[in-house]
Amino acid sequence: MADYDFDLFVIGVGSGGVRAARMSATYGARVATAEDRYMGGTCVNVGCVPKKLFVYASHFSEAYEEAEGFGWARTNPGFTWPVLLNNKNTEIQRLNDVYRGLLNGAGVTHFDSRARIVDAHHVSINQQIVSTEKILIATGSWPSVPDFPGREYVITSNEAFFLETLPKRSLVVGGGYIAVEFAGIFKGLGVESHLAYRGPLFLRQFDQDVRLCVRDELDKKGVILHFDSVVQEISKNADGSLRVSFADGSEMETDLVLYATGRKPNIHDMGLENVDVRCGDNGAIIIDEEFRTSVDNIFALGDVTDRIQLTPVAIAEAMAFSSTQFNGHRKLMDYDGIATAVFCQPNIGTVGLTEDMAREKLGEVEVYRSVFRPLKHTLSGSDEKTMMKLIVDKCTDRVVGVHMVGPEAGEIIQGIAIACKAGATKAVFDATVGIHPTTAEEFVTMREPTVT
Ligand code: NDP
Repeated sequence: MADYDFDLFVIGVGSGGVRAARMSATYGARVATAEDRYMGGTCVNVGCVPKKLFVYASHFSEAYEEAEGFGWARTNPGFTWPVLLNNKNTEIQRLNDVYRGLLNGAGVTHFDSRARIVDAHHVSINQQIVSTEKILIATGSWPSVPDFPGREYVITSNEAFFLETLPKRSLVVGGGYIAVEFAGIFKGLGVESHLAYRGPLFLRQFDQDVRLCVRDELDKKGVILHFDSVVQEISKNADGSLRVSFADGSEMETDLVLYATGRKPNIHDMGLENVDVRCGDNGAIIIDEEFRTSVDNIFALGDVTDRIQLTPVAIAEAMAFSSTQFNGHRKLMDYDGIATAVFCQPNIGTVGLTEDMAREKLGEVEVYRSVFRPLKHTLSGSDEKTMMKLIVDKCTDRVVGVHMVGPEAGEIIQGIAIACKAGATKAVFDATVGIHPTTAEEFVTMREPTVT
């Protein structure tokens, strides 16, 4: 066997890269990592973690209002954006250090530098070239903004986490995870919040009842929704505000435009042209079930591939990769039944098939749906509704889809996802005694199908 400097060189230390490096080192591999941006990648720095902190922050405005019905005096507390920003930055710095410590602790050699592939067994970093038996590309994804006049005036989620001042008015363009999450964050923090989506209804890949419920709840909270709305041009006014022109001839003045129109695999400037690593039309690195690219000793996982752009997926892929390559135990990733949450307000939690997908795939299904006002809101004064839905394969009685819009939907669906993964049938749900009084108990008390 050739004598390489390392057994594995990981490019990118996001969620997937760090886990792969750590686990592989734990299994005895000599591992190096390289990163020229931030430790912990998108999730820690400009994604899941700071986003959730912002969601918590934005929810307080509603919580203060709701407290009055429970006897608390009405207060009008002020909100100071720089305090939130500084506290968030401090926490992210702490996490960056934790990640660095994890790599050090596992004996990984880390380079704070851009890495470029020179050939299948060599990587350049800091004008130095090291040799490696295997390379793992875990460089994640990057926000993608379409081309149009005035594109230079918009920001993406990357910048939204570091705004010096909070705008008075905002427009979020897009209809996926990031768009609905940020529209809610801005609204909760007191910004006049607009969301423009190019189609008739956002959250295209979600269950129709989820989409309708989120539309109604965002609308009730005062997020101004513009559907069938395509931005044509953005120009800057003398006072620094922005004028947005839409394809239907309408116009809007705003202070900030955030584009949340998807994320593209990050394959730029890493020397891919020096090796025969094949990418799909969307730029995603094509891999097989062992995460192997078209070059035998080069692997890729996480957002840079064409699979599911979620942190826990990248981590699970990294675990499977390390086990297969360095622990002598071939492990394949199971992409079935991956639960997900969207932290719009109220949250979405979902696992399995949508009703439409289930009908198409299985034919006969039973649907159980419940829309109700949670106990808390009997006194809070809020008219927010919670929606819960079960989809059952009529032939096998298995629960094949579970969807929720409501507070802590992600927390609830995580537990339900375990039941679904274990193959739970509707009869098992029915035989489960509920916890009272909770919202989650509704999932085990829905007896009459709404649709069959
Ligand atoms: P999504 O893929 O979720 O949504 C992109 C949205 O932008 C869609 O509504 C899409 O519309 C719209 N769009 C795409 N291209 C254009 C265009 N040229 N003009 C106008 N609209 C356009 O991407 P996000 O950016 O919201 O998030 C990226 C990924 O990050 C997500 O898919 C998710 O996997 C991950 N993520 C996960 C989170 C979580 O787990 N809570 C949070 C945030 C992100 P259409 O539907 O019509 O194609």
